[in-house]
Amino acid sequence: VKKRATPLVSSLGEFGLIARVQRRLKGKTSVVVEGIGDDCAVYRASPGRYQIITTDALVENVHFTLSTHDAETLGRKILAVNLSDLAAMGARPRVAVIVLGLPATLPVSFLDRFYRGLDGLGRGYGVTLVGGDTVRSPKGLWVSLTLVGEVKRNRFFTRAGARPGQMLLVSGTLGDSAMGLKLLSPGKKTKKWKARPREQDFLTRRHLDPTPRMELSQALAASRIRVGAMIDISDGLAQDLGHVCAASGVGAEVELERLPISQPVEKICFRNKLQTRDWALAGGEDFELLFTTPREDVKNLRRLTARVGVPVTEIGVITANPGNIRFLQRGRPLRLNRPPLGYDHFP
Ligand code: ADP
Ligand code: MG
Repeated sequence: VKKRATPLVSSLGEFGLIARVQRRLKGKTSVVVEGIGDDCAVYRASPGRYQIITTDALVENVHFTLSTHDAETLGRKILAVNLSDLAAMGARPRVAVIVLGLPATLPVSFLDRFYRGLDGLGRGYGVTLVGGDTVRSPKGLWVSLTLVGEVKRNRFFTRAGARPGQMLLVSGTLGDSAMGLKLLSPGKKTKKWKARPREQDFLTRRHLDPTPRMELSQALAASRIRVGAMIDISDGLAQDLGHVCAASGVGAEVELERLPISQPVEKICFRNKLQTRDWALAGGEDFELLFTTPREDVKNLRRLTARVGVPVTEIGVITANPGNIRFLQRGRPLRLNRPPLGYDHFP
């Protein structure tokens, strides 16, 4: 049988492509006054709130490869990573714009699946895609999304609010995504790792299709719990805790035995003689929330997390020594022979 040629995005032309996207996103919401199709989008901002805006890009062969990320999860992920940034500030997402850098050889079906993923996740969080830009990319696919949200004027979280004595907490489990990535693109050693299919599934999903902790963040923002500082962990706990300490002018003590580790990471580390703490401290793209709260508020926090159904673990305390982060093992400071660095684009 003769194989039917796959239609490529180049066959649509720029305006054909936009029209196609416009058709698939036509469901207007009450937020949007002018959506896709004019020079700008217009949307209704809520009175008495600050607007808040963030942007993040995913670049082929830097953040993802097309052999491991399918179009739909990529569409979800570009929104998820931006939602995670808004969650870190206690914000509610409203509208998004996207820029696509497309190789001319990209199949149209890829585009359709990408928008299906993006739109599906967006609906779940009340995000409307109101516009964007489309350009040809001479080499590789990239996507960049800008997300606009809002916060109450007197209730949002920053990296700078941590104070000595506050408890340090983290949502979910750490290191899953980094290990999932290793399992997806194994090196010489990784190839020999013993991992069960269910473990592999869980960890690769955590990498490809992360869940932003929006529900937890929104519940905290709506509560009376005092939140000192908050950040989402994208570059590994050690590095992102460093950002909090630097911005707040404080230090921290982290009890290594308390770091939340999933069963799959625990088991793979045990079987293959790896240290769970290396994955928890330096793994990237966890998209969990790291935050501080006064000790007196932990009881209320426990009630809130039970209601929301997101596990949150106390992992340490904030101290008064600026920039001094200590990792404790059984109460003793541990000298890590290779300091956990986390991810850096320009090392
Ligand atoms: P302009 O030339 O005025 O910048 P464009 O021709 O780039 O406008 O875009 C026309 C309309 O299509 C705008 O509303 C823009 O926001 C929207 N748009 C362009 N590319 C995309 C895309 N990839 N996804 C969603 N909307 C898009
Ligand atoms: Mg214009």
